[in-house]
Amino acid sequence: MTARIEFRLNATDGKARTGVIATPRGDIRTPAFMPVGTAATVKAMLPESVAATGADILLGNTYHLMLRPTAERIDALGGLHKFMNWQKPILTDSGGFQVMSLSGLRKMNEEGVTFKSHIDGSRHTLTPERSMEIQRLLGSDIVMCFDECTPFPAEEKVALESMRMSMRWAQRSRDAFGDRPGHALFGIQQGSIFRDQRAESAEKLSDIGFDGYAVGGLAVGEGQEMMFDVLDYAPDMLPQDKPRYLMGVGKPDDIVGAVARGIDMMDCVLPSRSGRTGQVFTRHGVVNIKNARHQDDPRPLDEACTCPACRSYSRAYLHHVFRAQEMISGMLLTWHNLHYYQELMQGMRDAITAGTFEAFQAAFHAQRAEGDIEPM
Ligand SMILES: [Zn+2]
Repeated sequence: MTARIEFRLNATDGKARTGVIATPRGDIRTPAFMPVGTAATVKAMLPESVAATGADILLGNTYHLMLRPTAERIDALGGLHKFMNWQKPILTDSGGFQVMSLSGLRKMNEEGVTFKSHIDGSRHTLTPERSMEIQRLLGSDIVMCFDECTPFPAEEKVALESMRMSMRWAQRSRDAFGDRPGHALFGIQQGSIFRDQRAESAEKLSDIGFDGYAVGGLAVGEGQEMMFDVLDYAPDMLPQDKPRYLMGVGKPDDIVGAVARGIDMMDCVLPSRSGRTGQVFTRHGVVNIKNARHQDDPRPLDEACTCPACRSYSRAYLHHVFRAQEMISGMLLTWHNLHYYQELMQGMRDAITAGTFEAFQAAFHAQRAEGDIEPM
């Protein structure tokens, strides 16, 4: 346990890194995958089940929580950790991304964003200062700067103006956050797919000084190839001695590719959302449990997986409860998917420590190329 949030790098292999972010609420082993607990819950999972999958940290969404039940209410009830019964670290986003993707009628200017709630149409304002206040009320351990996630594609000039405003907002976020021992503030690099803009953004953020740095503005429709092109240089521009967080990523092969390029933390709704739509991630790629090929199959999803869905249930059962729209379907498939993601992270941490990350990547891709087991 530590009073301040500290990042210790334990090993590197190529650009891939493994280490620990020590926080007063426990250690976060990196590379880390953060399940998304949008509305103070990882859907279909008890918090103790999320912890059992190996997650060290969750992500909470400022936009959703500020609208319902409100940050003030959560604060009055003892903070987000107590409210949702999750005692390990929580990272909250700034609300900016979801304002742009979910809310109606928005007005953005230098001050911030005014918008209408997607729930009841009520009017709200988010500024860097208000975002810092909300994340403080929630009790978040890792707070994100308020920024504009530059839409993709963006013309160079538009991306530049957007990035520079985000850097002014980063300074305002830093000023409003103040000195809060035990809590971290991360800056967010923008600059779309433009290398010189990414460099300018990284330099500005380093000058301000943060506890960690996110690569923002990716996974917004540019595709894996273009994302990897940016990740080939963008993380290198950020300070080596602080955690680097790639926001909103991704599919398993995105995650492995990002770690190979020096990323330490990621989050994505994919494993939990897919669990509710019958899409399952395994070592052999994606399995669609709704497919009729599973209806008489007594075998587990993945015989090597130790999650409850694979240990105790057949593909036939998982197919049946999905088709019958039984709640246990979302519960079991989400558990499996989160377990798979966390096992992937552990595999990468072990491989980086052992200096065998290249072999790990080759085996990862080879197994996926084999595809799912043959039908019965
Ligand atoms: Zn499983």
